[in-house]
Amino acid sequence: GHPEGYRVLTHDDIPAYIAGVPAIVAQLGGGPADWTVRDVADGNLNAVYLVDGPAGGVCVKQALPYVRVHHDWPLAVERALFEHAYMVRLDPFVGRGAPQLYHFDPTLFTIVMEKLEPHIILRKGLIEGRHLPKAAPDTATFIANATFNTSDLAAPFERKFEDIAHFARNQALLRITMDLVLTDPYREVWRNRYVRPHMEGWAASFRSDIELKTAVARHRIGFLTNTQALIHGDLHSGSVMVTEDDTRVIDGEFASYGPIGLDTGAFIANLIMSWYAHGAYDRPEADRRAYRDWILEQIAIFWATFRDRFLTLWENATEAGDAYPADYFTDTAGKARLATIRRDYLDGIFADTVAFAALKMNRRIIGYAQIADYLVIEDLERRARAQAPALALARALLTRPERFADIAAILDAIPRFE
Ligand code: ADP
Ligand code: MG
Ligand code: MG
Ligand code: MG
Repeated sequence: GHPEGYRVLTHDDIPAYIAGVPAIVAQLGGGPADWTVRDVADGNLNAVYLVDGPAGGVCVKQALPYVRVHHDWPLAVERALFEHAYMVRLDPFVGRGAPQLYHFDPTLFTIVMEKLEPHIILRKGLIEGRHLPKAAPDTATFIANATFNTSDLAAPFERKFEDIAHFARNQALLRITMDLVLTDPYREVWRNRYVRPHMEGWAASFRSDIELKTAVARHRIGFLTNTQALIHGDLHSGSVMVTEDDTRVIDGEFASYGPIGLDTGAFIANLIMSWYAHGAYDRPEADRRAYRDWILEQIAIFWATFRDRFLTLWENATEAGDAYPADYFTDTAGKARLATIRRDYLDGIFADTVAFAALKMNRRIIGYAQIADYLVIEDLERRARAQAPALALARALLTRPERFADIAAILDAIPRFE
């Protein structure tokens, strides 16, 4: 059963619903008869509407009691509580890196937020071959701001533990990550939707690869036990909305305390898959080559920006977390050691980034939630040929991590695996 008072809002219900929220009415101007409503849902899970009035517009997102693209798959509407909590928690740290929150309705599990327009979903921009110079560095800055400030480097443990306890209730979506991302690609299950028959060999080899499954199991433990910082949990190129000069991270419903590398890895994985997918797009060869080079450059910029921003926040932190007591490292030797500690910490995030990037690629190619970057390649043979190298790279990233000590090693490897 649904929570008391919950009902699914349809497109036609939206004006009357908004009319009951005075602050939003004022923002739109006029009344329900003056408002237009557009259904823009394109994710897998939720309903999303854009509402425009004479004075302004808003975005309304409602959690449905099932998976939007799969109605007989029930899913707890409480996920909206965590998307809302994620926005509230990060607001002091991320500035305009996310849409502004206007209203939360804990009965209908609805979030009313800033309407992002003319922004487009980054994934769409990547598929179209658009140069979006701010997307990678801004997303990197968002992740650094969000994770540094909620880690033990910045937050006293009491505040962090309260938060961990709260987000630990986000179990319906953590179960999705556990099953769809971290388990399904390495077993036989009805939900796997890899290209048949072309990718059957790859799926079978993953199921029987004990080295691969050993590595996967190690990172499952990482996901379950490493409450390093508040992470987004679903930070693929469909969770970033962009213009040429503005970038916003949306859709934090998978938020939890977890390894920072899950967010950085998700973003990099989607850039890597875009690179491979472009190999199968019908574009002039020179354009394609230039765009693929641009993508590789964005991966480098993304990691460099994340690392720099995270280190800068750490070096300038005024409120110390409980990880490294400030008065341990005040003399010359201490200060030098602190530089090493910081480098090691970032190396740890990088190692997780590599592993979770690989896990995210595997799940998008073998698992349930296939991505538009590949789905637009209608010829299945060509699609499979653009997917296989991503899986080969992912397997190497998971089973030979020592070969990928820095971002240059990954950028080197991508073209070699094609
Ligand atoms: P889901 O959880 O179902 O994936 P998302 O939060 O990703 O839902 O939103 C689905 C789509 O709705 C996005 O791809 C985007 O096109 C649109 N959208 C979401 N939030 C906004 C917003 N604040 N402004 C404009 N469009 C938005
Ligand atoms: Mg989404
Ligand atoms: Mg989605
Ligand atoms: Mg979502």
